[in-house]
Amino acid sequence: MVSTFPNPASVDLSRIRLSIRSLQPQLVEWRRRLHQQPELGFQEKLTAEFVSRKLQEWGIEHQTGIAQTGIVAIIKGNKLDPQSNPKSKISEVLMPAAGCANGGSLRSDFSQNPKLPVLAIRADMDALPIQELNEVPYRSQHDGVMHACGHDGHTAIALGTAYYLNQHREDFAGTVKIIFQPAEEGPGGAKPMIEAGVLKNPDVDAIIGLHLWNNLPLGTVGVRSGALMAAVELFDCTILGKGGHGAIPHQTVDSVVVAAQIVNALQTIVARNVNPIDSAVVTVGELHAGTRRNVIADTARMSGTVRYFNPAFEGFFKQRIEQIITGICHSHGAGYELEYSSLYPPVINDAGMAELVRSVAEEVIETPVGIVPECQTMGGEDMSFFLQEVPGCYFFLGSANPDKDLAYPHHHPRFDFDETALAMGVEIFVRCLEKFVNYE
Ligand SMILES: [Zn+2]
Ligand SMILES: [Zn+2]
Repeated sequence: MVSTFPNPASVDLSRIRLSIRSLQPQLVEWRRRLHQQPELGFQEKLTAEFVSRKLQEWGIEHQTGIAQTGIVAIIKGNKLDPQSNPKSKISEVLMPAAGCANGGSLRSDFSQNPKLPVLAIRADMDALPIQELNEVPYRSQHDGVMHACGHDGHTAIALGTAYYLNQHREDFAGTVKIIFQPAEEGPGGAKPMIEAGVLKNPDVDAIIGLHLWNNLPLGTVGVRSGALMAAVELFDCTILGKGGHGAIPHQTVDSVVVAAQIVNALQTIVARNVNPIDSAVVTVGELHAGTRRNVIADTARMSGTVRYFNPAFEGFFKQRIEQIITGICHSHGAGYELEYSSLYPPVINDAGMAELVRSVAEEVIETPVGIVPECQTMGGEDMSFFLQEVPGCYFFLGSANPDKDLAYPHHHPRFDFDETALAMGVEIFVRCLEKFVNYE
């Protein structure tokens, strides 16, 4: 298969691989250390201290306390190669908008004082409110909190990438920003980090990030152009009926009957209002009403979530859900209170950046069949906010290994992953950077 992104001749791939594989014991040590001290979103104090201490030890410039506990490390390459293209051709091809933003009049300045490419790598650091059930030496020491999504691994991979690139600054011309983000599991640390300016000064041209993924086996990578993960929207609704005796319903407005009709009718949005070629989900996950079998409930409360890939649906589900609730309540003489919010937009990968990651991943895992484009999930991720700002690619790094009993799903109290994936993650990040900045 001919890759669209050939490797620069100057880069010795086997040397990169060997020196990254030699980092594996440290990657495991850092990951296990982080696993033992999991912290919830915006409380990643020990985690941030650990990351900052390592970066300091290695002499890497970084800023702490961004969006409370976030960190950004900056590593500038110092490759002195007159043949090296100062402005990556990949970035020109991939980002015509970025070139336009500089304006025609700036183009002459641009060539005299070229902006070197800047690639951001994003890792999330937070854990979940789950009591770990794994009996491993590195199990969580924080009661009721657990790294059950693999973000300890993401932080270790980002640290390994920072360590390697700092040691090999002479291999690249350009800058890498490594973003250690809080609170991915909610309420979301990406947006406040962007608002704090992490994509500016120097301005980021593109961003990549990964999720260790137990839905895929070790030795595979899930990467695709376009939508990878869904938008996440949330709603809470209270039906306001009129309570009374279970045997005298004509004197009441039964909130249970109204709620039941609403739950059913909401399913018609996906079935009858969404183009069948598009994918979407409306789930009512909670329904609470009533106190006794012979009492008609005054109120009923329901909570649900909406998922979709197509950004054109922004605002659509909110409108349809409210129309259905209004109509059914009106027909029964009930009232309602509705709260609707948008948590994360969909994760949309840039075609060029997805191809860059795919070509690198294929070389790292050494098998084209290990690339899984059918890896979409209706799960959400706040990487989406970064991808709204700059072109980029988020991808899944297969980490399940049933032979080692490492195949529990994410957010399970027995979740764990095959740590062999750690060095693979570092290698993919490093080689993406090498290709991004050195492509000629
Ligand atoms: Zn998660
Ligand atoms: Zn996660």
